[in-house]
Amino acid sequence: MINKVRFVDPARLYGMIKEEIDAAYYDVMSKGDLIDRGHLKSFEKNLAKFVGTKYAIGVNSGYDALHLSLRAAGIGAGDEVIVPSHTFVASCSAIVNVGATPVLVDVTEDFNIDVSQLEENITNKTKGIMPVHLSGIMADMTKIMEIAEKHKLIVIEDACQSLGSSINGKGAGSIGLTGCFSFYPFKILGGYGDGGAITTNDKELYEYALRMRFNGEERETGEYHGHGYTCLLDNMQAAFLDVKLKYLPEWIKRRKEIAQKYHDALSHIDDLLLPHYNKDGFDHIYQNYTLRSKHGDEFSNFLKENGIEVLTQFRKPYYKHEKLKLEDKGFPVTEAISREVCSLPMNVEIGNDEIDYVIKVVKDFYNK
Ligand SMILES: *Cc1c(COP(=O)(O)O)cnc(C)c1O
Repeated sequence: MINKVRFVDPARLYGMIKEEIDAAYYDVMSKGDLIDRGHLKSFEKNLAKFVGTKYAIGVNSGYDALHLSLRAAGIGAGDEVIVPSHTFVASCSAIVNVGATPVLVDVTEDFNIDVSQLEENITNKTKGIMPVHLSGIMADMTKIMEIAEKHKLIVIEDACQSLGSSINGKGAGSIGLTGCFSFYPFKILGGYGDGGAITTNDKELYEYALRMRFNGEERETGEYHGHGYTCLLDNMQAAFLDVKLKYLPEWIKRRKEIAQKYHDALSHIDDLLLPHYNKDGFDHIYQNYTLRSKHGDEFSNFLKENGIEVLTQFRKPYYKHEKLKLEDKGFPVTEAISREVCSLPMNVEIGNDEIDYVIKVVKDFYNK
């Protein structure tokens, strides 16, 4: 009898790769290599290769990746940056915290920024676009890059939810000036604490980020090149992430298999909008399996009552939080999504019996 299905289960995943994680821990501890050492360099090299960029720079978090990218691009006071109205708040906060003004644009049915609304939101102050590749499928980068080039705008990809995703083989985080990744434990490549990375092909930006994550210091000479931050990815976290990165292609396959199981079992339920889109060339890696039910909380609460951990991000859109002082211009798709979203358990440590149980409970809800 199943009485609980976890949304993610870090301890169970640890059990699956315990030997290698323990060996990484032992290696780091016995060498005493804690800050900016070999494990970090190795992970950065492997991550850049995986994403398809020349460089990767490990930082403290996805937020730091976004923040440093904006700074590196010279975005600040007086500038506007376009960002989707449906995303995790950190995308927007990074823009606000460099002193720039976020300009929110609604999303479409795939939860990503509505590119047809981009041009009408570009003013003479617009300096950049921050598309967010939400849940594991990329925003329409072809169109975004076209518009960005036309208006000479910088593109910073918030790829925090889409490591391993691609459009016609081009990886998330390899198309804009930078790609920003998060290794928060719930992410597809999760560390054992906070972590993040920037990917880029731009050598200057790479060198800037290397210094700024280390208080502005150029390590060889000791010269400070600017007022920086303390936001390096820990060498220990990098060692763990390097182990997990090797498994990512295999894990993505498993996620797609789970998504297909959900799809096959639930696609006949008219009330449910499942996250399967007919978008040629777009590869969905299912960071999240976020469906929509018109029954909103009634649906998600039923799953919770039956022992299934689900996420309902975000019932309250970030721009409606008063203290963030953002203008609610009315974003109809974001509002509808916010009422209806429910992310089902999606992880590589889950068993088929548990998936079957989730499916059964969803069906029970509609057979009530
Ligand atoms: C997780 C996430 C972030 C922030 O990452 P942290 O590592 O938690 O700072 C930013 N944007 C999106 C879309 C995310 O999902």
